[in-house]
Amino acid sequence: MSIPVVNKETDRARSAAASGVCSDSVCAMLDRVGVPRDSKWRGLILYMRSIKNYDFLDNDQKEQTQALVMEVLRAKDFSEEKFQEVIKANRQILSAPWNRALTRTLTETAALVQEFQDTLFRHKGGVQKLESVTVEAVESGGDVDRMLGTIRRGFKEMATMIEEDAEKMVAMSLTDGLTGIHNRRAFDAHIGRAVARAVAERRPLSLFMCDIDHFKRFNDEHGHRIGDQALVVVGSILKGFAEEMKQLEDRDIFPARYGGEEFTVALADIEKDEAEELAEIIRRKIERYNFVIRDPDGQILASGIKINVSIGVAELLTDCPVADIDHLVDAADKGLYLAKSSGRNQVRAYIKPQAS
Ligand code: GH3
Ligand code: MG
Ligand code: MG
Repeated sequence: MSIPVVNKETDRARSAAASGVCSDSVCAMLDRVGVPRDSKWRGLILYMRSIKNYDFLDNDQKEQTQALVMEVLRAKDFSEEKFQEVIKANRQILSAPWNRALTRTLTETAALVQEFQDTLFRHKGGVQKLESVTVEAVESGGDVDRMLGTIRRGFKEMATMIEEDAEKMVAMSLTDGLTGIHNRRAFDAHIGRAVARAVAERRPLSLFMCDIDHFKRFNDEHGHRIGDQALVVVGSILKGFAEEMKQLEDRDIFPARYGGEEFTVALADIEKDEAEELAEIIRRKIERYNFVIRDPDGQILASGIKINVSIGVAELLTDCPVADIDHLVDAADKGLYLAKSSGRNQVRAYIKPQAS
């Protein structure tokens, strides 16, 4: 999640851009460079200038938009054709990160489809083998019991192979391709069952929403591939923590990549106070981690780089007006918002609004 920066300067820039009205000094500057008055160019240029105030865009997007404004002002071509061209270029700048995310998702999906296809072709080979074994056994005209035994073995092998592959496919569809931990689909299925059980048995169920701090900046500084490695690190810390808790205390802790740089952790039979303590342990583990950047050959390029996370904590039966998944996620998300707006790199529990 990102917290929009709200200040007077930003508000002024936004409302000026929205209305197409400029302040005296900006108007004078637009007059000087020849931007026609009462044209839609004024609104567009004001809007593009105000983009530097939008916190939800990254530095590349802001710089590219400012470069586009400068190019427009230098070229002094205020035709309709140029207008459409600039709108298109701006749209491409703004949608670039989403296109990158989409490409990543599609690449991952294509790899998954390829694996499914390979498996199905393997089955086709298996079916053909079974067919020839069966025909051979029947044509051999030998002992009927031996013939049936051969055919039965063939079918059994085939059934085992299909069962194993089906299990593999289900596991793949529930695993995040990058971090190797549970994905959003697995989380949705798990939390559905966990909520139903907590409600039916009146048992505690807590949830963390965990979000990497300033991850856009991390990507800007180190590049997306290194950013990917950071996600893997956070995923493995969460997974390691859950495994440790299972082994040492038989606790049922379920971490998942919720999407982007957000992770969820569901904690069955754990009340909010304890959940907060566990969230703090995780936060500190991640804070203490010395992140190492390696080249493709594994050589260390940089070390000691830090990642921080903010975590929001909520408990189903105490925090949610309606005990369901949406309210639980929403409450944990509000805790996360509190953690972010209080300075990040901290754990904050959801605080119920006071009844008036
Ligand atoms: P905040 O502290 O408010 O959470 O700021 P932030 O920059 O972390 O949050 P924001 O939501 O503004 O940006 C999230 C960034 O996470 C932007 C996006 O590029 C990056 N991201 C999301 N998914 C991936 C991924 O799979 N790999 C990499 N490298 N980056 C990702
Ligand atoms: Mg986020
Ligand atoms: Mg973040």
